Amino acid sequence: MKTLKIVNPADGSPLAELPADDAASVAAKAARARVAQPGWQARPLADRSAVMGRFRAAVAAEIETLAKTLTQEVGKPLAQSRNELNGFLGRIDFFLAEVAAATAAETVLADGAMTERIEHEPLGVVANISAWNYPYFVGGNVFVPALLTGNAVLYKPSEFATLTGLHIDRMLHAAGVPADVFITVVGAGAVGAALLEQRVDGVFFTGSVATGAKIAAQMGARMVRLQLELGGKDPSYVADDADPKAAAESLADGAMYNTGQSCCSVERIYVHERIHDAFVEHFVQTVQGFKAGDPLADGTYIGPLTRGPQLEVLEAQVADALAKGARLMTGGKRVARAGHWFEPTVLTGVDHTMAVMRDESFGPIIGIQKVKGDDEALALMNDTRYGLTAGMYTRDEQRAARLLRKVHAGSVYWNCCDRVSPRLPWSGHGDSGVGVTLSTYGIQAFTRPRAWHLRAP
Ligand code: NAD
Repeated sequence: MKTLKIVNPADGSPLAELPADDAASVAAKAARARVAQPGWQARPLADRSAVMGRFRAAVAAEIETLAKTLTQEVGKPLAQSRNELNGFLGRIDFFLAEVAAATAAETVLADGAMTERIEHEPLGVVANISAWNYPYFVGGNVFVPALLTGNAVLYKPSEFATLTGLHIDRMLHAAGVPADVFITVVGAGAVGAALLEQRVDGVFFTGSVATGAKIAAQMGARMVRLQLELGGKDPSYVADDADPKAAAESLADGAMYNTGQSCCSVERIYVHERIHDAFVEHFVQTVQGFKAGDPLADGTYIGPLTRGPQLEVLEAQVADALAKGARLMTGGKRVARAGHWFEPTVLTGVDHTMAVMRDESFGPIIGIQKVKGDDEALALMNDTRYGLTAGMYTRDEQRAARLLRKVHAGSVYWNCCDRVSPRLPWSGHGDSGVGVTLSTYGIQAFTRPRAWHLRAP
């Protein structure tokens, strides 16, 4: 039997070896979900909501254990693991509060002769293929509303966050989700691809553009709802009227939180020439103040990278930038210790010929580019194939609105960054993906409307 080895990225030590799925076991699981789904759909929404309310209570009761597992398997500093879990509770609360209104049947015409109604039905069996960087957030954005609206879920956690995935599996079943309504499949990319060979009614994927493109090609001619939440190269612009210190502190956090491994991490910064030097000075000072080290220790802010090969991507971006004339302000290399460690790195004097300003870094590294004004900043912000988030720091709300309306991005930020709200739709332009999670759009994503035309006899 195939197994999946789980390793602690902070020191390379083995954590677990789990039995993994293969094509035959995935097919058997998909068949079980197909049989179980109608029974789950038939239960009243109040029942399904009560089950998910019990799941929420279990997560709240176990936060310390869950946070520790997450930190051990992905290297996320413990305080940030706790933050993710607390944020996850808020998202469950949002879905519980909104699901009834978002999926309520609506009569849109009743003129005596004809009645027209819209009802929302679950898709059926959906595949939930998840990334490792925020497994509670990106997994939960799918399985919580999918289950609430009556779908069965075939859940594949990332191979780098499978212990977390198994905690989720255990708690959902203990809360009362039937064993065949939520089924976890264990393994890496090949197991994900085998899952997509099954008869499913929706595919909800979070991960890289490269994998998203493979999945889109695999799903090609199949008439199945496909949502892809992919990478980013998210820009922020600091205008000349912004407070350089406040903006630097906010953006350093946006670039380095979760060790730079967030889909909406700040990945490019443009600063008006009038405040560029002051901004850079505060930025570097803030980054040098971040405590790196054992992710389980109190006060740690920077942990290891989750995946070893990403170290080479970061090294190549630094080398490429320096060869083309960038200036290294701090960091710049791996740390010589067991595990996957890279120094928090700040580059200035960068431009768009450099990979660090074009390709997703997904690590603790940032390029800061000087600009002459809003027009140049906007042109550079839009010079990308991605479009997840973008931000601007200025005292002037109108000035920010003028620029942010023209930016290609699903989410825009005024004087903030690296922020996700359950109340707002989460989506990307361009290569950052297709479809929407969160908000009421992210509930209706798991349903399809049925149109009723009713003529009284
Ligand atoms: P990844 O693409 O390597 O893997 C994601 C998932 O896809 C994993 O579960 C993996 O096993 C599975 N997979 C791999 N190959 C597959 C295949 N051929 N068929 C089916 N499944 C397959 O991505 P990752 O490293 O886990 O995540 C990091 C990426 O995710 C970054 O690019 C980040 O920006 C992006 N991300 C985006 C969002 C968003 O909301 N837009 C959120 C979090 C992460």
